Amino acid sequence: MVDILFELAVTGESPDNGAWLDPLEIDLLLESTRRQIETHIHNRLDGIACDIHGETPRVIVRGGYDLATEELNVGYDVQACCNLMIMKSAALLGR
Ligand SMILES: [Zn+2]
Repeated sequence: MVDILFELAVTGESPDNGAWLDPLEIDLLLESTRRQIETHIHNRLDGIACDIHGETPRVIVRGGYDLATEELNVGYDVQACCNLMIMKSAALLGR
């Protein structure tokens, strides 16, 4: 099974006129985002292993919610036993 690591954080400064979301709503947003991404990655990569080394990939999900721009940005970083497996996993994950 694919190994997933999350590095999601809240960044930036809240605008003076007040944030669009309060901290609890941001927590809920991050939590639901986390679950969606987790499901997506498991659906795409579970059962996938390197043809050469037999290793399963690891995906690091980096990003977070920016208070200043009120945007959620998340990116994937795929780690695996070799470049071939990294390319294969990234292709399966899609963009
Ligand atoms: Zn490999």
